[in-house]
Order: sequence, then C-alpha cells, then structure tokens
Amino acid sequence: MSQQGLPPFTWSPLALEVRQYLYQYWCQHGRGPNLRDAHEALGLSRHDLIAAYKELSRGEIVFDQTTQNFAMLKVPPFSSYPTPVQVWIDGAFFAFAGCAMESVAISRMPPFEGQVLTLETSCACCLEPISIVMSDGQLVSRSAATALVHVSMAPQDWAIPTVMPMCDAMNWVLDADHAQRYERMIGRRGVVFTIEQAQPFVKGVADNRMWDYHWNAAPLTPEPILEAIRGLGVDVSNWDPDGPPR
Ligand SMILES: [Zn+2]
Repeated sequence: MSQQGLPPFTWSPLALEVRQYLYQYWCQHGRGPNLRDAHEALGLSRHDLIAAYKELSRGEIVFDQTTQNFAMLKVPPFSSYPTPVQVWIDGAFFAFAGCAMESVAISRMPPFEGQVLTLETSCACCLEPISIVMSDGQLVSRSAATALVHVSMAPQDWAIPTVMPMCDAMNWVLDADHAQRYERMIGRRGVVFTIEQAQPFVKGVADNRMWDYHWNAAPLTPEPILEAIRGLGVDVSNWDPDGPPR
C-alpha cells in the first residue's frame, strides 16, 4: 500500500527492480543491504539507488530520508531496528518482524516456502513470552490460544507519514484482559484481532508481496479498511463509536 493521501501511481521499472532485490536480500540475510551491496548486485549507481529508495518511500518501505546514505528502517514485513516480534528459523534468530500484524504473513513469502518460522514475541503490557509457529502462511501452533493482535491506532491515522507509527501500534497481547491493561498503560484504546482474523486481513498483501513483481501500491483509504476489519468480526467500536453494533 501507499502512504495515506497519495493519489494512485505505478512504480517505475527502477523501483520494481530495487524492491524485488530488497525482498530477496532480506529473506536471504534477515537484514537489509547497504548501498555497496545493492550497487554490486544491481550495477546501479548511488544516484539511481537513492532515486529508487525515494520512490519506494511512497509505499510501505521506510527510509530515514534525512540521512545521506538513506538509512533503511523498514522493509515490511521486516524491520531493521528491534521490534517486539523476532522471527526464528531452525532454532536461530533470523530477523525482526515489522509488526505483530505483518508477522503472520512472513512465512507466506516465496523464499520461505515449506519452512517453519517461529515468531518469538511477548505481551505488550507484561512482556510475558508468546511463541507462534507458522508455515506457508498457516498457523502450526501457539503458546497461548488466547493471544491477540492489539491495534492502538485507528485506520484514519495509518501510514501518515509512513507505516512506522502504525506498525508500532500493532502488538501481541496474551488475551483480552491484557489488551485492556495495555490500553490503560498507554492511555489509548484500540481493537483486537485473533490470529484467525489477522490472517485474512493481511492475505491481500501476503499473496502479492514478492509473488507479484509488479504488485502495485493500493492507496491507503481508511473507510474501506475499517469496513473490512468490521467484516472480519472485529469489534471496531473504539474506532467508530457511532457505527453499527458489532
Ligand atoms: Zn500482558
């Protein structure tokens, strides 16, 4: 998806080439490439790479555009900096997931086909461990059947100016009581998704990211997103106090 408020656009061939390289590199190494890595792999100049990064910033890939080297902060579903969700493969740490919601989509990426990924995370309020095992986008097992994804930012504020604050507001909690405790800790309300509700919510991204080289950035529009979430059976009354009851 794109940043909120942008008109529809299509990616340039340069941006598509660089985006696919970033996905491939992250899935292989669990971290991002620096400019030398990208230059040696793609044969692109510093100028062209940064032009591609600037363009990709209009979507969900996040760079610190105030830095000369365009520090790569997030390549969803991954994060360059520590987040509450670690991805483990074959008993070893692999990467930080972008956020709790994204985390259920990672195992669907083509390079992980047939592999088992463990999401090692914790409850947002008490930091008690939560483990979720996924493979090919499907849930294999979880340490707590009651675990939920808590989302403490309404779609009206998503992807402004980037996905960073939105991802930061999507966190695992042990259960509904812990969700409410976290809400009191941070002084804001939210909604909760079960894993079974999170999976179809991210399916559109999971089925296309990296699978479709030309995957376009759908404009982020809050109202259809809210309706889609409501349609999953999520209680969105904290975001829509005048809306229909659940
Ligand atoms: Zn807790």
